[in-house]
Amino acid sequence: MDIAVIGSNMVDLISYIHRMPSEGETVEAPEFRMGCGGKGANQAVAASRLGAEVVMITRVGNDVFADTTLENFRKNGIDTTHVLRTDASSGVAPIFVDPESRNSILIIKGANAYLSPADVEDAREDIAKCKLIVLQLEIPLDTVYATIELGKVLGIPVLLNPAPVAPELDLERICGIEFFMPNESELELITGMPVDTLDDVGKATDVLLGAGITNIIVTLGSRGAMWAHAYGREIIKAPVVRAVDTTGAGDAFIGCFAKEWVDHGDVTAAIRAGNRYAADSVTRHGTQTSYALADGSLPAD
Ligand code: ATP
Repeated sequence: MDIAVIGSNMVDLISYIHRMPSEGETVEAPEFRMGCGGKGANQAVAASRLGAEVVMITRVGNDVFADTTLENFRKNGIDTTHVLRTDASSGVAPIFVDPESRNSILIIKGANAYLSPADVEDAREDIAKCKLIVLQLEIPLDTVYATIELGKVLGIPVLLNPAPVAPELDLERICGIEFFMPNESELELITGMPVDTLDDVGKATDVLLGAGITNIIVTLGSRGAMWAHAYGREIIKAPVVRAVDTTGAGDAFIGCFAKEWVDHGDVTAAIRAGNRYAADSVTRHGTQTSYALADGSLPAD
C-alpha cells in the first residue's frame, strides 16, 4: 500500500439550465449528468490512475449514490475495505450550470460528516502499511486532528490540503505535518495575511513554517506552485496550456504529487509532475473525467 486517503466522497448532480427557477416556479432543464467527486475521492482517483496503491477511508450513505461511489472506487483500483456505510444520505452536490457556464453549487456533506476518529483508528493496521497519509477538510476537524496524531504515532508523513478552508483550523494541532498544500485563497484565510503578490504569498508561508509545518506548497493556478521550506522558497512553473475547465485541478495536482513523492521522495520533481498532470487536466472538461492514466490516455468508461 502506498497512500491512505482519509477524506470525502460526493456525487455531483449536474443540471444544465437555461435559467434558475424563481420562487415557486418549475422550469425544465435540457440536460442532466452525474459525476463522482469529493476532494478525497478526486485525489485518491488521480493517484490511483497514475499507478499508486491507494486505500480510501471514507463514509458513504445508504442510497444509490453510495453504490455509484463504491463502483467508481473499484473501477479506479482503489481499496474499498474502509469505505463505510452510514445510515444517512451520501454526500451529494447538486450543481446548476447556465449557458454562460456559471455555476451554482449546493454541498450536502451527508455521510462525510460522520467519518469519525474511531473509523480512522479501525483502519490503523492498513494505514500503518502506507508511506503517506493524505487529508482534506471535507470531513470533521476532530477526525483530521486524530489522523494527524495517528500519523505521528505510526511515523507516517501527513499531507494536508486545507480545502474547503476552515478558518477555525487550529495550527497548533497540525504542527509537525510534512506537507501543507493550500491554494492562494485558502492561504489568505488561514493566515489572515494578503496574498496579492508572490512576495505576499511567501510571507504568509513564513507564518506556517513558524507554526512547525515542514513544507508548504501553495498552488498558484496557471503560474504553478510555490514550495516554501526551512531553507528558502521557490516557484515551480506550470506548463502553458489552453485551459477549458479548471475544476478539480487542485485535486489532480495533489494526487499526482502524492504518487510521485512516495515513489521518489523528491519534492521538486513531485511538484513538477503535479503541475504537468494538473495542467493537462484543465485542458478537458470535468473533474475525475479529466484525470489521465500514467500513459497520458483517459480510462475507457
Ligand atoms: P480547484 O479548486 O479548481 O481544484 P485550486 O484552486 O485548488 O483548484 P489551483 O491553484 O487553481 O488549485 O490549480 C492547481 C494546479 O493546477 C496549479 O498549481 C497548476 O499546476 C494547475 N493549473 C491550474 N490552472 C492552470 C492553468 N490555467 N494552466 C496550467 N496549469 C494550471
